[in-house]
This record gives sequence, C-alpha cells and structure tokens, in this order.
Amino acid sequence: MAEVSRREAFSSLASRFKKTKDDKHLHVRPPYNEDEYLFQICLECEGKPCISVCEEDIIKLDGDKIPFLSLEKSGCTFCEECAMACPNEVLVLNQEHWIKAKFSIDINSCLAWNNVMCSSCADACDESAINFFGVFRPTIDMEKCTGCGFCYGVCPPYAVKYEALKEK
Ligand code: SF4
Ligand code: SF4
Ligand code: SF4
Repeated sequence: MAEVSRREAFSSLASRFKKTKDDKHLHVRPPYNEDEYLFQICLECEGKPCISVCEEDIIKLDGDKIPFLSLEKSGCTFCEECAMACPNEVLVLNQEHWIKAKFSIDINSCLAWNNVMCSSCADACDESAINFFGVFRPTIDMEKCTGCGFCYGVCPPYAVKYEALKEK
C-alpha cells in the first residue's frame, strides 16, 4: 500500500480512538547535557545557536525561554551539532548518547493493543526498541530506547507517551 494511503487508512482508524496528547513532555531537553540545572545558563545565551543548527528543527524554546525538544514532526538523530554549537557547555559531547525521557505506549489508545494492525512506531525506530507480541501489543524496551522520539509523531492516535526523566 502506498505510504499516503496507508497513512490515510491509519488516520481513519485512529479517529475511532481518542487523541490524548498530553503536555507532560514539554520539558524534555536536548541531549549531551549532564545537569539539567545548567539550562538556566541558556537564559543568557545570545542567539541560542543550538536551535538554528538542529538539522531536524526540533529544538524550541519553552515558556521560560529554555530549549526543549519538540518531537511532533521529527526526532533526534544525535548528529551532535547542538553540542558543538553550544558556547556555554550546557551541552557537551562527552555526555551520553541518549535523551532523558521515558517513552511508553498507552494501551488504551494504541491501535495494535486494540486488535488493529499498526506498526508505525516500530517502523520509525532505528534501535529496534519496540517489541510486538506477535503482531499486537507493542511495548518499548527502555534498555534499547535512546529517547530519540521518532516513534512519537508517527503514531496516529498519539498512543506513544513520553515524559522527562532525571536519570536513565
Ligand atoms: S543532536 Fe542533532 S538532531 Fe538531536 S537535538 Fe541536537 S542538533 Fe538536533
Ligand atoms: S547553545 Fe547552549 S547555552 Fe545556548 S541556548 Fe543552546 S543549550 Fe543553551
Ligand atoms: S522507542 Fe525509543 S529509540 Fe525507538 S523511536 Fe521511540 S524514542 Fe526512539
């Protein structure tokens, strides 16, 4: 099935499920940061170059004018550009290659938890971190998940959830 019509079919099916996008994830920060407190330095950062260098255009400013990741349209490729551009060592390359967020699948709104064939999240996951029980009941293996976020925006009913973590 062509990608567009597949997407339309999923959207149609998904409309039977309530979209439950929540805002808990708003403060998931860019990768390569050791201490969340350092983001206070961003308030004084002129030009905020991390935003303009992000190839996926996912770094945005929250209401306090501090960078966070917006994962609705894309995810993080861990390209390192934000860390290389940060002049204040808020983001530094010797930090770990993952984003401090916990991802999960809401079984009430997930199509595949409700007997509808869908693997949009797993198709988007380069880490093979989403496991299906047969072709249904997907779950996320947090041992493999990097928090890249590519599974979030592709889920028709927004059944993929995430929230900020202090540590992995
Ligand atoms: S690593 Fe690259 S894609 Fe990820 S937030 Fe930084 S600039 Fe954007
Ligand atoms: S470049 Fe660094 S200091 Fe500036 S806004 Fe981005 S993360 Fe903060
Ligand atoms: S399950 Fe984790 S690694 Fe896979 S796409 Fe989602 S956030 Fe990325």
